[in-house]
Amino acid sequence: MPHFLSRHCCLFAGIFMVGWVGAQPLTRPGDYFQQELAYRIEVTLNDSAHTLSAFLSLDYTNNSPDTLRFVWFHLWPNGYKNNQTAFAKQRFDQGSAKFHFAKDEDRGYIDSLDFRTGDATLDWEYHPEWIDVTKVHLARPLPPGGTATIETPFFVKIPEIFSRLGHTGNHYEITQWYPKPAVYDRDGWHPMPYLDMGEFYSEFGTFDVRITLPSEYVIMATGDLPEGDPEYAFLDSLVAVTAEYYALKKDDDKPDKKARKKWLKEFDKREFAEPGDSATKTLHFHQERVHDFAWFADKRYMVQKGTLWVEDSTRAVTVWCLHLPDVADLWEESIEYTHDAAYWYGQWYGTYPYNHVSAVSGDMAAGGGMEYPNITVISTGGTKEMLEFVIMHEVGHNWHYGIFGYNERLHPWLDEGLNTYSNIRYWYAKYSEETGGRFSMGIPEGLTKMMKTPFTIRSLLQFVTNLAVGTHDDQPMEGHATDFEPMNYGVICYYKSSVVFDFLEHYLGEERNQAAWDAFTETWSFAHPGPEDVRAAFETTTGQNLFWFFDDIVKTAKRLDYGVSRMVASGDEVKVTVTNYGDIAAPVEVATLDRVGKLIASRWLPGFSGTKTITFEGQGVHSATADPGGYAPDVDHSNDHLPLFRLADIFLHKPTLRFLLSAPEPGRSQLFFAPMLYGTAYSGLLPGVAFYGGVLPPSKNALTGGLYYSLEQKRLAGSAGLALTRYRLWGADQLSAKLKYSNYPDYSLVRFGAEAIFRERAVSSPALKTSATLTWQDLTAAALDTTLLWDAGAFTSAALNARYWNHAHTLLDWDLAAQVRAVAGGADRLATILQGDAKVSYRYASKGKVKIRGWLGYALADRDRIPNQYRFWLSGGLDADLGNPLAFNRTGSGILAVYHQLYLPDEGPGLRAMITEVPGTAAWALNLDVTSKFPIALFADVAGTNNGQDESWQTYLNAGVILALGPVKFIVPLWHSWDAEGEQPPYKGLRIGISLPRISLGP
Ligand SMILES: [Zn+2]
Repeated sequence: MPHFLSRHCCLFAGIFMVGWVGAQPLTRPGDYFQQELAYRIEVTLNDSAHTLSAFLSLDYTNNSPDTLRFVWFHLWPNGYKNNQTAFAKQRFDQGSAKFHFAKDEDRGYIDSLDFRTGDATLDWEYHPEWIDVTKVHLARPLPPGGTATIETPFFVKIPEIFSRLGHTGNHYEITQWYPKPAVYDRDGWHPMPYLDMGEFYSEFGTFDVRITLPSEYVIMATGDLPEGDPEYAFLDSLVAVTAEYYALKKDDDKPDKKARKKWLKEFDKREFAEPGDSATKTLHFHQERVHDFAWFADKRYMVQKGTLWVEDSTRAVTVWCLHLPDVADLWEESIEYTHDAAYWYGQWYGTYPYNHVSAVSGDMAAGGGMEYPNITVISTGGTKEMLEFVIMHEVGHNWHYGIFGYNERLHPWLDEGLNTYSNIRYWYAKYSEETGGRFSMGIPEGLTKMMKTPFTIRSLLQFVTNLAVGTHDDQPMEGHATDFEPMNYGVICYYKSSVVFDFLEHYLGEERNQAAWDAFTETWSFAHPGPEDVRAAFETTTGQNLFWFFDDIVKTAKRLDYGVSRMVASGDEVKVTVTNYGDIAAPVEVATLDRVGKLIASRWLPGFSGTKTITFEGQGVHSATADPGGYAPDVDHSNDHLPLFRLADIFLHKPTLRFLLSAPEPGRSQLFFAPMLYGTAYSGLLPGVAFYGGVLPPSKNALTGGLYYSLEQKRLAGSAGLALTRYRLWGADQLSAKLKYSNYPDYSLVRFGAEAIFRERAVSSPALKTSATLTWQDLTAAALDTTLLWDAGAFTSAALNARYWNHAHTLLDWDLAAQVRAVAGGADRLATILQGDAKVSYRYASKGKVKIRGWLGYALADRDRIPNQYRFWLSGGLDADLGNPLAFNRTGSGILAVYHQLYLPDEGPGLRAMITEVPGTAAWALNLDVTSKFPIALFADVAGTNNGQDESWQTYLNAGVILALGPVKFIVPLWHSWDAEGEQPPYKGLRIGISLPRISLGP
């Protein structure tokens, strides 16, 4: 559908010019300059100690108008040296303790530096804050136009892979590894420490790098091998071997999995020399007009090779893909992805200028892939579609970071946003005809094929963007990498930036948009463009003042939201009133549609605030819509579309039923459905269908429910729920009102709830959640096979809850909760119950925690007045208000019954061993858990309760182990302090704990 529309809409693009500034040629600003570097590096890999011994000789040419007395150098391997580096602090602050707890032998550093110019030793000192940045004082001032040669030996201890540079055993990813000058530009020096989230800014130059390593390694790097015949022959021999693998196909051309498995087994059996033992080779890599040099080496690489013809098929670029055997099948078409990315980007941003374009598989941990000139490393797994996306993205960085050498640290939206926008271009360019740009982002293919309206790359990136923008969690695109919350680094710098440039392209039309990129490419290839240079490329070539885009959309978090607010038919015409509900006066495209949603006419309006009414021809018009093609980064699509009201059409407005999940459809409200199966002891199996709509943020109105049939009770059952959510309202960050009705053979329930969440933008903690619920329930007596734990009949409970949690500290977690609940019903049951708990968890190792929970409960009632299910059962509460979506036997006593075998970790005193002693009117508990990197945890609990009659207190202790298999935990009590007849731990005391997300679609 977007394609049908795009052809029409382009005709109208640009008719309404806002602020005509007149087309001019694009030039670099008068004071622009850039430095020129020539690197000569000799490096030897020691593959038993995992170190590099190297020597750098660098010619630094000063093209600035200033005399330089020092040069800032980056020593980024020092980012892995200790817990005080900017990298270490960033990972720690973002919640990762992996590097914090890393052993010294797994960390890395750079040393043995001795900066010299000729015979003169140069003074140098570390940056006052960062040990991975150093200031090297030149032997003599370097005047404009002068060249200084700076030399130094260096030694790198290669860390394990924590981020980008690193090794896994004898697999090497050598990146950000040599002393490298910071950029000196119009704004001065740009020294920066190494970061995981936050990329780089580098000077262009020439690299001559001689790498010595054991001959058996397969290596791929930035640059060509000018004397590389034997090495190319070695690679070609591996291409032939790898081709044998891919030739293993069955008659129907499908991979012969059995034969391939056997082949890989043989391939893995090849014997290599012990590290440090084998003969070495020295390879000379040479590359001009790049700003970095990276290399990757592994003895096990399989190799594929292809050719990309560029410059009107006169120049051949070699396409290399190196991958490890474990991803051989996934990488089967990797040459195609690499080739196509370089091909399409070459169409839009200038022909690929180098002699090879390569992708290698690896373990890199900073995202799914990482770009370097000529070569990218891909660590993503998953589907072939995802691999194509990541390879295409990383290869695309050869332009948007490589050829256009942005300051990525200062403006991450430039490289990531413009590159991801180009990913949208690629996907439509390649897949328009075949699949309409369908993109599932890792959702299995079988599932996406079932979707009536699958996501396209455009609709998916918009959808993901709105997860943050729609909840007001977003930040402006323009910002330093370290200004972004981790969630927004992805959502804003990549996705929002991509969809807004996609909208700009749609508004300008393909031709004008490409003219801007052509001018940009001509002016800024192999240079350092900034945000204003991107803007100038668009404004000078289109002659338009694009303030609404480059000021409002790029620099602020203002919201774009147009909608059709009124539609009136008068004679042969319809009058369509468009309202700007947002705060950006962007151009808006308005269209009329027929009964089946097909576009009749479309028109662009220049940006405005308030409302505007325009007239369309009325023939066949059924509805009007803003943004008919779904291009606009509009935060609320629900107001985009308005039908002309005709009684006869009333049934056309019902929600559209869609299976499982589908992309939003302009002008339709969707209701999804999915098959579901529940079961309880009393109801037996409950097959049926769940339905839901608007459950994902930022939906304001969510509908959930389901319709089932109880095979045992032979009757229908089901539930329906409505939740209204508003963001940033009345001082809260999220306000919701919820209504739920359930009717199952086991029980009926009506609940009304209100909830407010307070937290900072784009973070999940620290946060405070307060809620109030009013629940009425009626438990079927026949469904209860234990009257010890449950009372039958109708109960009404009112609860006030408050919970504060702070998981923002990487080592220490806090979680505090308190509840007041009043419950009434049944035979003289009436009680007010107070309870609260405090949970503290301390991380003592990368994958080990000590967790302590304290719990207190007190009932303002005689013991007999408390309904059974609301009592302080020592082995865990019963979820008496039926708030958990537990599908198992909620009210029974069988093997999968809550309380008896299942354990609800957040309810009640929580003794892990089983005890059914009837508790009194007060209870307390302490629970201790110690987890480790093994799937086994230790626990100990102590709890006490009064017996409610003579107020005497009893104390209970137990201890044991927990075996964790994903979300399911097997709880094995080994010892308890009380006598229990017929119960011999560990056998009979075995319980199952489960952690389920608190969504409730079913019983
Ligand atoms: Zn990227």
